[in-house]
Amino acid sequence: MKLEPYWLDSAPRFSSASSVPIEGKVDVAIVGGGFTGLSAARTLAKAGASVAVLESGRVVGEASGRNGGHCNNGLAHDLGSLAASIGIERASALYRAFDAGVDTVEALVASEGIDCDFIRTGKIKLAAKPAHFAKLQKSAELLQATVEPDLAVVKPDEIRNEIGSNGFHGGLVFPRGAHMHMGRFGVGLAEAAARAGAAIHENAAVTGLERLAGQAHRVVTMRGTLEAGQVLLATGASRQGPFSWLRRRIVPVGSFIIATEPLSAELAASIMPTRRTATTTMNIGNYFRLTPDNRLIFGGRARFALSSPTSDAKSGAILKARMLELFPQLSGTGIDYCWGGLVDMTADRLPRAGERDGVFYALGYSGHGTQMSVHMGQIMARVMGGDAAANPLAGLDWPVVPGHFGPPWFLPFVGMYYRYQDWRH
Ligand SMILES: Cc1cc2nc3c(=O)[nH]c(=O)nc-3n(C[C@H](O)[C@H](O)[C@H](O)COP(=O)(O)OP(=O)(O)OC[C@H]3O[C@@H](n4cnc5c(N)ncnc54)[C@H](O)[C@@H]3O)c2cc1C
Repeated sequence: MKLEPYWLDSAPRFSSASSVPIEGKVDVAIVGGGFTGLSAARTLAKAGASVAVLESGRVVGEASGRNGGHCNNGLAHDLGSLAASIGIERASALYRAFDAGVDTVEALVASEGIDCDFIRTGKIKLAAKPAHFAKLQKSAELLQATVEPDLAVVKPDEIRNEIGSNGFHGGLVFPRGAHMHMGRFGVGLAEAAARAGAAIHENAAVTGLERLAGQAHRVVTMRGTLEAGQVLLATGASRQGPFSWLRRRIVPVGSFIIATEPLSAELAASIMPTRRTATTTMNIGNYFRLTPDNRLIFGGRARFALSSPTSDAKSGAILKARMLELFPQLSGTGIDYCWGGLVDMTADRLPRAGERDGVFYALGYSGHGTQMSVHMGQIMARVMGGDAAANPLAGLDWPVVPGHFGPPWFLPFVGMYYRYQDWRH
């Protein structure tokens, strides 16, 4: 079993990393070479700006290349619960922004000719307990009446048409959900940004950021210093660099994934005949999908821990046991890959984007970001060009997470709380 992301191991290596020294002046410096940073870089460079992407590791080496491979529309939240706190109009607008995110990815894949198996399979949300189906039915009424007219309810006695498991009790199908190969998409996006003229520097961690007189900034990296007219922070769940203001608002939460060996066509059809992306209704639930060559990519918050090779392997064993509970027909199936990554969580699970002290930022997608990160990269390029109204996240306040100063010591307690909620309801 390889302890690395299937997406990165099965994608070509990015071939256009800049080898020029990091020095001089650029119009825009972008910190972070994940989907947000690369998408912004491509749009800004296409508009004629000189752009430097400063990535501490390899492009899409963090969340963007380590996720579950789902590119779903809609919010992480129950629409009704979100509407209760921010009103149905704002909640619906945010829902539509995530929809637009999937459209953005689809259009980008087509216009840049990225070979990443993007396909609109639809997503199924699975009731993990009989009582959860009633809740799903209730939320379906609001969704169908507002933002998701084609949503389909799958009754408990029909669920076997969708999933070959005794573990589920009905579900909802969101037909606009999609999936793709995240490594091939990410490398394709990076190549497109480089083709547009962006200089993409790998192994260039940003260690200092200073506002100069006027609008400019001095950006210090491990490989040199440059001056930038504008700066975009697209740093995800990062724990490095001089960004403590963001770090007090983002909690890095480990999430873990296993990928099976390719299944036979019959076995694949027996577990997921409709080949959708699937998520469950538990707080500490699972997410899974098939690849075109019939691997099952099965993820979840197996443990409330950070990701590291030892931690990932422990989580992989928990995930495998859970996978076999749901799909005992996979008992003879080998696990080829196991990996983990850090999700950039906000307290309310809504992303944040804007500008503070002359520095722009977009992050906090809370596990629902393969589409929004690409979308927000394009949007932030417009915002930085003066179109502040383009930002669908504008105006959301963003207090610090209480007690969060360094490593997230409170995660095990949060885990206990959600386990208790899952046991009770
Ligand atoms: C295990 C896992 C499963 C997920 N599954 C899904 C899913 O199925 N569907 C979905 O929609 N979303 C999913 N997500 C979330 C999604 O992957 C992210 O929201 C999205 O990729 C965020 O992209 P990003 O560019 O903002 O951040 P990232 O991809 O994290 O990129 C940030 C980059 O910034 C760099 N960086 C940080 N600090 C510095 C610094 N000081 N100097 C230079 N560079 C720096 C990092 O190295 C990193 O490459 C998942 C996330 C994880 C971790």
